[in-house]
Amino acid sequence: MSKPNLSSFASSIQAAAAPFRTYLTELHEKYHPLTDGKVADYIPELALAKPEWFGICVITTDGQTFEVGDCQIDFTIQSISKAFVYGLALEHHDRAYVNCKVGVEPTGEAFNSIVLDEKTNRPYNPMVNAGAIATTDLITGKDATERLKRVLDLFRRYTGREHDINVPIFLSEKATGDRNRAMAYLMRNFGMVSDRIEETLDLYFQQCSILINTHDLAMISATLANGGVNPITGERAIAAEYVQDVVSVMLTCGMYDYSGEWAYKVGMPAKSGVGGGITALVPGRLGLGTFSPPLDVKGNSVRGIKVCEDLSRDFGLHLFNAAPAERDLDEWLSGSGVADSW
Ligand code: GLU
Repeated sequence: MSKPNLSSFASSIQAAAAPFRTYLTELHEKYHPLTDGKVADYIPELALAKPEWFGICVITTDGQTFEVGDCQIDFTIQSISKAFVYGLALEHHDRAYVNCKVGVEPTGEAFNSIVLDEKTNRPYNPMVNAGAIATTDLITGKDATERLKRVLDLFRRYTGREHDINVPIFLSEKATGDRNRAMAYLMRNFGMVSDRIEETLDLYFQQCSILINTHDLAMISATLANGGVNPITGERAIAAEYVQDVVSVMLTCGMYDYSGEWAYKVGMPAKSGVGGGITALVPGRLGLGTFSPPLDVKGNSVRGIKVCEDLSRDFGLHLFNAAPAERDLDEWLSGSGVADSW
């Protein structure tokens, strides 16, 4: 069950007349008819998602919110959680310690590949399952309940609302999670994770089963874009010194084994999940959330990728873009852009 969305309420400066809103509406209309991709079904409960669900939300670092489509439907965060739990692990330990347990090197391999760095025995990065399980293991707390509470509270700070676990999805993850279990035991063999393996696996499956919506996805990235402070509530979600760690692994490893092409084409630090969500940011400017369950072969939302590509190109949002953009974001946000020019 979803709880009242305070951030949504507080931030509904829904700049209704801004041409940027019209732009997003047209983007939604443009890609809604797309039927490519397939809803994830390797976890049976995920297959219940409807292929037509489609939401786009942008939140600027000064709190303007633009949302179109199914932005209030709850779905499970899945792999998107990995980036944020990595930030929490950094806060619970120091950077040097976390770096000993998980690297920051892209793998070019699938998210669930059973592969560790041969020299160090570390998982390659916190975004593949092995690295995420090692990261989750680093979340401190006296018992399973306290550790889960800390993870849920992390997402509350990022989104500005309380979150729940989707229990059937958690149980489905747990029942079908032997591959993750195998990785965890392999890592224990190399001393990369502690002995509380089943507790950590449960926490990992629970963090993947946290319910969020498209608005939340935009908010968590807007928070990172805003230096770690939620632009609506003003609460700090992550210590400023670790924002760059999280955002850089998002840029290099956040989109599964499509991350290189994504960085080249879209150029926004991002993270996607098999539930169909993508969260992406333009540091200092905005957070973007998209939700559409059908995935491509790499596990990224087909419509989500299209939306991010268009936004990046049309407004020159690629991190390394030096050319004048076709559209000036500030003008479009403030109302002086021309909405029907494309
Ligand atoms: N719960 C998923 C798993 O470990 C995470 C998948 C994802 O979103 O990449 O299989």
